[in-house]
Amino acid sequence: MSEEKTRGQLLAEEVFYKKKSAFESWSAEELAAAKDYCVGYAKYLDEGKTEREAVITSIKMLEEAGFRAYKIGDKLQKGDKVYYNNRGKSLYVMAVGSEDINCGVRVSAAHIDSPRLDLKQHPLFESDGLGYFKTHYYGGVRKYQWATIPLALHGVVITKDGTSVDVRIGDMPGDPVFCITDLLPHLAKDQNTKPLGSAFTGEGMNILIASSPYIEEDGTVTPASDKVKLCVMAYLNEKYGITESDFMSAELCMVPAANAVDVGFDRLLIGSYGHDDRVCAYPALTAMIENAGSEHTLICVLADKEEIGSDGVTGMQCCLLVDLIDELAKNLNGNPNVIRANSMCLSADVSAGYDPNYPEVYEKRNSSLINCGVAMAKYTGSRGKSGTSDASAEFVGVVRMMFERDGVLWQTSELGKVDQGGGGTVAKYIANENIDTVDIGVPVLSMHAPFEIVSKTDVYSAHKAFSAFCK
Ligand code: MN
Ligand code: MN
Repeated sequence: MSEEKTRGQLLAEEVFYKKKSAFESWSAEELAAAKDYCVGYAKYLDEGKTEREAVITSIKMLEEAGFRAYKIGDKLQKGDKVYYNNRGKSLYVMAVGSEDINCGVRVSAAHIDSPRLDLKQHPLFESDGLGYFKTHYYGGVRKYQWATIPLALHGVVITKDGTSVDVRIGDMPGDPVFCITDLLPHLAKDQNTKPLGSAFTGEGMNILIASSPYIEEDGTVTPASDKVKLCVMAYLNEKYGITESDFMSAELCMVPAANAVDVGFDRLLIGSYGHDDRVCAYPALTAMIENAGSEHTLICVLADKEEIGSDGVTGMQCCLLVDLIDELAKNLNGNPNVIRANSMCLSADVSAGYDPNYPEVYEKRNSSLINCGVAMAKYTGSRGKSGTSDASAEFVGVVRMMFERDGVLWQTSELGKVDQGGGGTVAKYIANENIDTVDIGVPVLSMHAPFEIVSKTDVYSAHKAFSAFCK
């Protein structure tokens, strides 16, 4: 038996593409580094379950790394490391490089909002002795996934005198939690025959929050009406100083109470609420912190409102990114149009990881696989690439060379089968400003569920990818 490879075998090795996993590509040290890196990521997940909390956590990391607060109109000069806190809900981080600003900026843009259940403006009611909050879901949720899981209340209330009150209850040790109830199987005959998408309704997503009436000083049940509601308001008034009308000027939401946790015997996966898209925000932010001082001017955007279309003052469709590039131009003798023409962006958002449990919706050859690295989506969109900026082959080539140069484990990704559905990211809004943009992100299982799954190897690959781009 000859050991020598045939010409065909050698040729196949040379010309065929073979996707590699982290296990085929990495040393034991690199695998250990990935696990290490994700200790910080898990903490980031737990501290920032809403965009407001993620902004606070991110600013803490930035200030420790020497970044300082910036206001529009402030002077900017080479070497500056600043962050712009946009209304407490989105964050723009800038590190001014040493090269001519007209060479362009390198933008990494992730989002820090996640699907959840927002409280309505008149949320509180009682029914048959039980107290509830009414909700209006935020982003793409599969409603049935939110029933019978522990939920936590997060957000901010602006009282009638303008005081801002932070609320966070349900995910610290000893906290009570809240939940949506569901039918028992014994009485679910009719519900079971309904299609999954209509068995649960938005108006049915009422949160169980109390079951006790208000008790008067003498220990008797209050004669007042709305006894349970009064019990809830008495608690909220005592703890937070708010009254029912303050709900009208509040942003309160229900998020899963559970914190991030290792999944699997090998502890290589992380299960958590809100990987989409903090699993890209954290790597983009840490890459920015590590690479501030690069010759290139770097911008890292942590956007809000992506899950509901990126509209508004804190969404990526706001002109703020362009304004900040204008400010860079003014301060550094650049031409904003030239800067944008020479800029590049990685739109940092998750991809749908191939799920062997649901092979029928994926086209495996073009899906991203768990543990095969960060995923690049040249295009997103749906129904024939509708609604995507579709990066050029040339720009994909530029990014590919950066990744290869730095040994980044990466793969490509499409969301699923062509006619199965689709989705979009912030990529097109940035590309519309004449900035070459492509989507890069971590493959996720159970995307948008209250408990999403990613692999530590892919999170670490994302960090290496954003670092390669910043260098
Ligand atoms: Mn996303
Ligand atoms: Mn999403």
